Amino acid sequence: MPDRALPASFGEALAAARGRIPASEARLFLREVSGASAAQIAAWPERTLSAEQAARFADLLARRVAGEPVAYLLGVREFYGRDFQVGPAVLIPRPETELIVDLVLARVVPGAAPAILDLGTGSGALAVTLALERPAATVTAVDFSPAALAIARANAAALGASVRCVESDWFAALDAGERFDFIVSNPPYIVDGDPHLSQGDVRFEPASALASGPAGLDDIRRIVAAAAAFLLPGGWLMLEHGYDQAEAVRGLLRGAGFGEVASERDLAGIERVTCGRRP
Ligand code: GLN
Repeated sequence: MPDRALPASFGEALAAARGRIPASEARLFLREVSGASAAQIAAWPERTLSAEQAARFADLLARRVAGEPVAYLLGVREFYGRDFQVGPAVLIPRPETELIVDLVLARVVPGAAPAILDLGTGSGALAVTLALERPAATVTAVDFSPAALAIARANAAALGASVRCVESDWFAALDAGERFDFIVSNPPYIVDGDPHLSQGDVRFEPASALASGPAGLDDIRRIVAAAAAFLLPGGWLMLEHGYDQAEAVRGLLRGAGFGEVASERDLAGIERVTCGRRP
């Protein structure tokens, strides 16, 4: 807010944000800078802000107006009921990815201690959630980005999850003899140059976590081609993909010899995750 005085109170801060960002976001920023509760923010407009709090609020507001994602500005995003630390080195976890968690949990037989691999873990959302939901599981998370792995490790530590984090370009750094019961991934799957990449939050996210070749399928092809060798017999491969890719991904899985190939719909009714089983 270069031309404006810094807001001196909660009410002034909310007024400064009005018409520029949604009120719900302005209240989140006010909580972040002041430590006040949602109820205090709603009921106490005259509460004063210190100069430092006001300056932080003005900075968050200006950056949000410029398009930076709320999750990066606050450094946190909820996934499967837990808060994950996030930053520009990782994709912001999305609600539709929770479908993969549900699909794995539904297939883990009671008492089992499955070996689970999360490819391209980013913030660690899938790996950490699965480790916490099934504490008997052995969970490995790989990412080719050291900056992403640092965030995944921090999330595992903060949430008390035991996850082995490996820097690896898909399967490249894993031992050839490793075998898993589940391989899950939310890989990049957007078509290179898709207009979606230059809109909204996505502009600030790592391109390497989003785009994947002329059909968006380059990374999915690589994963499908190599996955069976790292699965135990009866093990599952589960891949998130784009809204119009389910048929293509089913074809890739069948072509690689997977059985029980089926796509599952997310809460928006879109075929979002395709699963196949190693015979
Ligand atoms: N679902 C994300 C989006 O549409 C893309 C995530 C990904 O490519 N894995 O923004």
